[in-house]
Amino acid sequence: MQRGKTFIVSGPSGVGKSTVLKALFAQRSDLYFSVSATTRAPREGEVDGTHYHFLTQTEFEEMIGRDEFLEHAQYVGNYYGTPKKYVDAAMEEGRDVILDIEVQGAQQICAKRPETVRIFVGPPSWQELERRLTARGTDTPEKVQQRLQRARVEMQSAEEYDYLVINDQLEQAVEELKAILCAEHCRPADRLDRILE
Ligand code: ADP
Ligand code: 5GP
Repeated sequence: MQRGKTFIVSGPSGVGKSTVLKALFAQRSDLYFSVSATTRAPREGEVDGTHYHFLTQTEFEEMIGRDEFLEHAQYVGNYYGTPKKYVDAAMEEGRDVILDIEVQGAQQICAKRPETVRIFVGPPSWQELERRLTARGTDTPEKVQQRLQRARVEMQSAEEYDYLVINDQLEQAVEELKAILCAEHCRPADRLDRILE
């Protein structure tokens, strides 16, 4: 059985990462979504253990102390991190793992695991990003501004990524993600052994 691969999905807040991934997972139950830990408060409808593991700052810092994160970062006043153990277990089972994480965390993972595939999700325009972030209605105007400021910096990292998916039409973005997953499994290094055996 081929070991699963890790795919990082990054992009500015409000671009639609969660929405695109939800649509992808509805079609691909074989994929594994890495549930992150965070100290931010749950949004309406978010379920502990499904969307995030919601932790206190002390709990989060204890996990850092026990070296239980593959990566962790601070984002607009809160901690976010990827617990190690589930990611490795899923890959051992042959499942592809999807991480929805911001750019600092992506850089940490790629320094340790350069084979990780990085996908950046960008907006069709800056105005549309601002519109989506505001229309989502989950953040105060002050937090929206902080997230937009952060987005400007994050957009500059897009070039370091392996792929850029533009989330204009949702269905098209999902198709592009599926195409990337498929293409990454067509690399000779991963499949030539099967023929040559
Ligand atoms: P992120 O996870 O990147 O922060 P969300 O998935 O929460 O972003 O999406 C932010 C807002 O944009 C949500 O209100 C969502 O419904 C909307 N949205 C997502 N994708 C699209 C799209 N392709 N077209 C229009 N609105 C979208
Ligand atoms: P949100 O608060 O909108 O859910 O997420 C804010 C940002 O944190 C997003 O860019 C999201 O990709 C990122 N994020 C979510 N989980 C993790 C994680 O485990 N590690 C890192 N580094 N970033 C994360």
